Amino acid sequence: MKEFGLNIWANNNFAVKNAKLVVNHKSEPALLDIVEDIRSSGVRGPILLRFPHLIQQQIQSLYANFSNAIRENKYQGEFHAVFPLKVNQFPNAVDAITKEGGVHGYGLEAGSKAELILAMAKTPSNAHITVNGFKDKEMITLGFIAAQSGHNITLTIEGLNELETIIEVAQESSLKTPNIGIRVRLHNAGSGTWAKSAGMDAKFGLTSTEIIEAVQLLKDAQLLDKLSMIHFHIGSQMEDIAPIKKALREAGNIYAELRRMGAKDLDNINIGGGLAVEYDQHSSSKIRNYSIAEFSNSVVFAISEIMDAKNVKHPNIFTESGRYVVASHAVLITPVLELFSQDYKENLLGLKETNPPLINELSYLNKRLNLSNATEYLHDALDHIESIFTLFDLGYIDLQDRSNGEILVHNIIKKALALKISTPTDELDQLQIKIQERYLINASIFQSLPDYWGLNQHFPVMPLHHLDTPPHRAAALWDITCDSDGEIGFDPHKPLYLHDIDLDNEDYYLGFFNVGAYQETLGMNHNLFTKPSEYTIHINNESYKISNNSESMSILDILNSIGYSKDEVLNKLERDLLKSDFITEKEKTDTLTKLKSFLEQNGYLRTTN
Ligand SMILES: *Cc1c(COP(=O)(O)O)cnc(C)c1O
Repeated sequence: MKEFGLNIWANNNFAVKNAKLVVNHKSEPALLDIVEDIRSSGVRGPILLRFPHLIQQQIQSLYANFSNAIRENKYQGEFHAVFPLKVNQFPNAVDAITKEGGVHGYGLEAGSKAELILAMAKTPSNAHITVNGFKDKEMITLGFIAAQSGHNITLTIEGLNELETIIEVAQESSLKTPNIGIRVRLHNAGSGTWAKSAGMDAKFGLTSTEIIEAVQLLKDAQLLDKLSMIHFHIGSQMEDIAPIKKALREAGNIYAELRRMGAKDLDNINIGGGLAVEYDQHSSSKIRNYSIAEFSNSVVFAISEIMDAKNVKHPNIFTESGRYVVASHAVLITPVLELFSQDYKENLLGLKETNPPLINELSYLNKRLNLSNATEYLHDALDHIESIFTLFDLGYIDLQDRSNGEILVHNIIKKALALKISTPTDELDQLQIKIQERYLINASIFQSLPDYWGLNQHFPVMPLHHLDTPPHRAAALWDITCDSDGEIGFDPHKPLYLHDIDLDNEDYYLGFFNVGAYQETLGMNHNLFTKPSEYTIHINNESYKISNNSESMSILDILNSIGYSKDEVLNKLERDLLKSDFITEKEKTDTLTKLKSFLEQNGYLRTTN
């Protein structure tokens, strides 16, 4: 994998042009140019870029594929979709979603009170709201208020007690009753890391016995006409299409049975979310085994087959796919602060008049290394450095000898890799693991890629430039938290190779892709690193526009956000400095000004220019 797997994960959203990674849209701006543009105003640290055109593209793809499938299968129901807010609730994402989705009547799904309030504030007037998750009387009352205020809202019950509460609120008030959905508990479970949402032992949904009881309760309360939807969600990131087909057969039959039992206004099947996103960079381990076209066709076909067999009117189909809609729109960009082996520059070599034989040997290898002997010399050098460490531990050589040895070996590694790059061998690949380079990135994995930390979820990563040069350093990525979990190690099965850059002379930027789903709210302020600075990029035919800038929180605001008083912190620092000895009053006030300016900046490092 030395092309970074663009053809696997990028879905043509990005491309390489003039050695830089560009956004494959209209004027095709280079990501590097956008980043340099933003950094020219003094911004430092990681940057999150949002591309609303990619949200628009995914929403269009969802609607276009389902309407094709509906046409091809002569399906009689309609297609509707809602965006599940839990996947990304941040204003710049939600505003883009409701704006781009407006023409399709794309709605919002809420799973908590706060999300429901957000849905009520943001759902376009022609669109649906669906509500899942556990609910108390207050949340159910909010659903009534939404219906009363003109929203087309469906409360999906997760248990009979919720239905009883809905009936109670309906009887106690004259507010408009929302539509009611039933989440069904399927025995056909999903697949993949997140498949905990279905199956007999699932956290959610009504069993068949409970469904029968629910219908009776609704009949008794004369609310059966409000039952409008059945819902299931078999889990996120479905890797395989087979489980959803099985689930559809089961849910479809439940739907038909409910209609037969008198639920005449039931006319929607909500198939939940779960459309997968390709995160892999290595074709050997591609995640998804279906296309969106195949998916929509299978769903529409399966439902129509069951309904035709049971002679039931085709229901409208709802989806709640979130990851598919927003994952691609956000890109995290991190400067590389350091390559650890760059501390071993050849000009720091301090050879003596007489050196230990092993050092002489390494000098010889370093000088005589060529294409034909590179692997052999590399081997020898790695053996020698082990011996040098042992000699040092035993007191036979001094620190200068050891330093010379380390510098020489690092040089041999670099030269050998550069020579061998066009003719890689298995052996060299094995050696790479041993001599991997550590790239220190100005970001926090806990904050920006929490699913890597929590679930070992891989995100595509690649440099934004130098793409005309093959990268040849096996790379491990270290973040700047002081936690050893803040590392993406080199994995020989999914290798990442990066360029050998002299960071004293130029910057090097890495992009992490498909980070627009789930990462932002799950991100945590470990070590008090907060959300990266974020920017929305609108690309037009000539250039691009940057809007909705929101800079990463300042150090004082971070402390304030977890409950410290800004003034108290600032006053204490100021008092201590002013009462200190041995510097002039002028130096004190200058230092104070400097200190204050530090506290107004974000907490990421500012070492690169
Ligand atoms: C999480 C969730 C979704 C979204 O799943 P994706 O995998 O992001 O598409 C949809 N519906 C429900 C009920 C959910 O809990």
